[in-house]
Amino acid sequence: MHELSVTQSLFDLTLREAAKAGARRVAGLEVRVGALTGIVPDSVAFYFDLLGKGTIAEGAALRFEKVMPVARCRACGAETPLADSGDDAPFAYAWLRAFGEMTCPACGGDDFELVGGHEFALVSIDVE
Ligand SMILES: [Zn+2]
Repeated sequence: MHELSVTQSLFDLTLREAAKAGARRVAGLEVRVGALTGIVPDSVAFYFDLLGKGTIAEGAALRFEKVMPVARCRACGAETPLADSGDDAPFAYAWLRAFGEMTCPACGGDDFELVGGHEFALVSIDVE
């Protein structure tokens, strides 16, 4: 469980940005999460809620933007975006089944490396 430490960093950053903006309250924030990070958005929301108690970020609504990795064929270099299953529960692993079975649409190869999907970033905050 590394969600607590990443959420602490996210929370600290949010308060710094809110202070810079002269905010009285943080209504919400948007967070980009790469599917390869293994970070579970529900856990981040849970810890953020705990950390926010008694601060200007109490009750802030978190929105998550999921970033899927791209599979790059090692044989020909063609890049195939991995489909988001749309299923949030196994956030990091839902796409793995498809990845294990895919073949390169350009050359038919089945040896890929993954590019991207390691993002974890605060995209924006809504302040009042
Ligand atoms: Zn290929």
